[in-house]
Amino acid sequence: MNIINDKGCGWINNLQKRKNIKILTKNQSCDWIIIGAGYTGLSAARKLGSLNPYKKIILVDAQLAGEGASSRNSGYLVDTTLNDGFTSNKDISIYKNKTEIYKLGIKAVKKFIKEHQINCDWNECGKYFASSDTNDYKDLKKFSEILNNLNFENEIFFQDDLKKKLGTSFYEIALYTKGGVLLNPAKLVRAMIDVLPNNVQLFENSPMVKWKKNNGLIECEFKSCNLFAKKIIFCANGFLNSLGIKKNFNFPLILTDSMTRTLSDKEFDLLGKPREWGVLPVKPMGATVRITKDRRILIRNTVEVLNPLKMENFNLKKRIKFHEIGIKKRFPELFTNIIESSWSGVVCRSRNSSQIFEKIDNNIFVAGCYNGSGIGVGTLFGEQIAIKANNETSDEINLIERRIKPNLLPPQPFLDLGIRSKLFYERIKALKEI
Ligand SMILES: Cc1cc2nc3c(=O)[nH]c(=O)nc-3n(C[C@H](O)[C@H](O)[C@H](O)COP(=O)(O)OP(=O)(O)OC[C@H]3O[C@@H](n4cnc5c(N)ncnc54)[C@H](O)[C@@H]3O)c2cc1C
Repeated sequence: MNIINDKGCGWINNLQKRKNIKILTKNQSCDWIIIGAGYTGLSAARKLGSLNPYKKIILVDAQLAGEGASSRNSGYLVDTTLNDGFTSNKDISIYKNKTEIYKLGIKAVKKFIKEHQINCDWNECGKYFASSDTNDYKDLKKFSEILNNLNFENEIFFQDDLKKKLGTSFYEIALYTKGGVLLNPAKLVRAMIDVLPNNVQLFENSPMVKWKKNNGLIECEFKSCNLFAKKIIFCANGFLNSLGIKKNFNFPLILTDSMTRTLSDKEFDLLGKPREWGVLPVKPMGATVRITKDRRILIRNTVEVLNPLKMENFNLKKRIKFHEIGIKKRFPELFTNIIESSWSGVVCRSRNSSQIFEKIDNNIFVAGCYNGSGIGVGTLFGEQIAIKANNETSDEINLIERRIKPNLLPPQPFLDLGIRSKLFYERIKALKEI
């Protein structure tokens, strides 16, 4: 199993290249093996390392650590989400539990950056759920009531105010939520790599090909060697399905971001010098758009069913066209050729937008499937799955385990057919919003 991805991620390419990359070459045994070094795997390793300073922990990634979705996302550390079907009061207790998990996720990231004095362009500027369609007012109003019930500060804005705040007249209406943070995702995950405890050995560019239980040990097969571990934690998120983990409960989807060059002073003046902001779409297939701290525009407006193991540059070209259209719609006054970098990444979804956090067999654990909101929850679930795998418990685990569990998926080919038709239908509904 090889993972190929484009090398286009602007967040990663703006950081210094890492050195001393170690690849797995020889057989060895360890107490723990963790598969996947994104927010989840790195947080699990950090926690496990501190709980067991004398145990040998091996963390392995198929690519460079952190260079999966954890560096490739749009950088919204969310306290609330709109597109999980929660626009009515019906499932309010489920939604409440979900927001409590988000809250703990933000707390976990905040604690991490404070403890290690991390600069990841953290900005507690809140976020907007915005739309260019006034018909979405009804949904936003209902959502605002739910947020009020749950004590989330929020406010509805209309076009004139939005123009002043965002520098675009595209949006007719938006619900602003005060909670939620914007950050640089690659800086955050890089920091998690930098502070790994001494007893965690990190191996990269080393895809695990197969695994099995063998005489009470877990045997993992890599290209040129095998590892033997007493316990294993799977943190492969969008690749859990390819590894056969909880296969009937999660599936991968591909999202693509583009980021412009830094806007010139003149361009920035044209937009009215807006402060850093982030918009999430009201319609699920609409665009996520940000203006970053260093005055770049970031946009994501595609969701696709593709092979997560093969994300090459070739696939990017047609999506960049959609990004150009999305930027032009919002900022017609800017030049057309301002996109500097584009990249795709894999998210893990479940049918009912619930996450996976489980012991799946003796000594075998898994955390993942964050349905596109994994910065905080990934950090939280990583730390907490380590505690669970260490046979301990916590208030956080109690809360996580009260969430609804992912629903069973239909078998193939019905699953792919169902996802494609749903995406197509949502895409048509949101054509104006890309
Ligand atoms: C374009 C995009 C935008 C997004 N925007 C946001 C956002 O704004 N806010 C938010 O909260 N979330 C967002 N997400 C989702 C978020 O990035 C993920 O939920 C989060 O990164 C999950 O972290 P993780 O550590 O579980 O998984 P990942 O970061 O995907 O890490 C999993 C790792 O497992 C490794 N792996 C897989 N298979 C193997 C194997 N066989 N052997 C060894 N290693 C293996 C992979 O190489 C990968 O590095 C976005 C995602 C994408 C793609």
